[in-house]
Amino acid sequence: MSAEKIPLAGVIGSPIAHSRSPLLHRHWLTTHGLPGFYIPMDVAPDNLERVLRALPDAGFVGCNITIPHKEAVMRIADKVTDRATLIGAANTLIFREDGTIIADNTDGYGFIENLRQGAPEWVPDAGPAVILGAGGAARAVIAALADAGVNEILLSNRTRMRAEKLKEEFGARITVADWVQAGNLIEDAATVINTTSLGMVGKPELRVPLDGLQRGMVVTDLVYTPLQTRLLKEAEEAGCTVVDGLGMLLHQAVPGFERWFGVRPVVDTAARAAALR
Ligand code: NAP
Repeated sequence: MSAEKIPLAGVIGSPIAHSRSPLLHRHWLTTHGLPGFYIPMDVAPDNLERVLRALPDAGFVGCNITIPHKEAVMRIADKVTDRATLIGAANTLIFREDGTIIADNTDGYGFIENLRQGAPEWVPDAGPAVILGAGGAARAVIAALADAGVNEILLSNRTRMRAEKLKEEFGARITVADWVQAGNLIEDAATVINTTSLGMVGKPELRVPLDGLQRGMVVTDLVYTPLQTRLLKEAEEAGCTVVDGLGMLLHQAVPGFERWFGVRPVVDTAARAAALR
């Protein structure tokens, strides 16, 4: 790209109108006085490859990828990072000068950075981590926890087979339990993580019994609409350290912004406020 070109980035999904990423990236661009634009793009699955191949010539340096394209983009990219391969999905693309596309996944990074920022006392070897859910987000969370050095993961999902599949892929540190047992797992946990979509606006409530929650546990929910889910409310009442899911969204955006615009942004109260605007 020639020196005078203004770098463009954005987020591709469908639907995309409610994405908070444009608010966040625009906040960081303004805060750092950087030239550049970040644009939401609603792209249908059939058009994804054509659109992606055209973006580098239009001045794009990369983009974020969200639902429903996170898996499909892995087949389109010219290079996929090891962590995206491990997670089986990509959320961040980097376009090289020659137009080649690199696919990465920063969800696990965002998860762990959010946990560390929201619960500075958290240590990986404090005890078992209980994960509710075994979907795409759970894969990123498991990869991140394993990478951070958590040795024991207790995993429960409504569809048990999906949890068993994750155990096969991620190895012996995972113990799978039936969904009806999820509440019992919590009693032994140091860290509790909801990676299901339960509790999200428009979805059913998370009905897992929560009386096992105790002071000293760190509890986090990937759901961030609402910011305070039933899980986080009950955890707070039980004296746990609670970390909401918005921070994960903010932190996962950091590596992409740095690659595209050349400055590493910080996740602070102003960034949170911008994303919530
Ligand atoms: P996904 O792949 O569709 O997985 C959904 C998960 O929720 C599965 O474990 C599914 O269980 C479970 N689930 C759905 N309905 C259920 C029900 N009625 N009863 C019990 N379990 C149910 O979705 P995902 O991509 O992993 O995302 C999960 C959540 O994380 C979403 O709310 C998403 O917004 C959030 N998320 C947040 C961030 C962030 O930055 N904070 C990042 C990624 C995702 P089954 O396998 O039995 O269907």
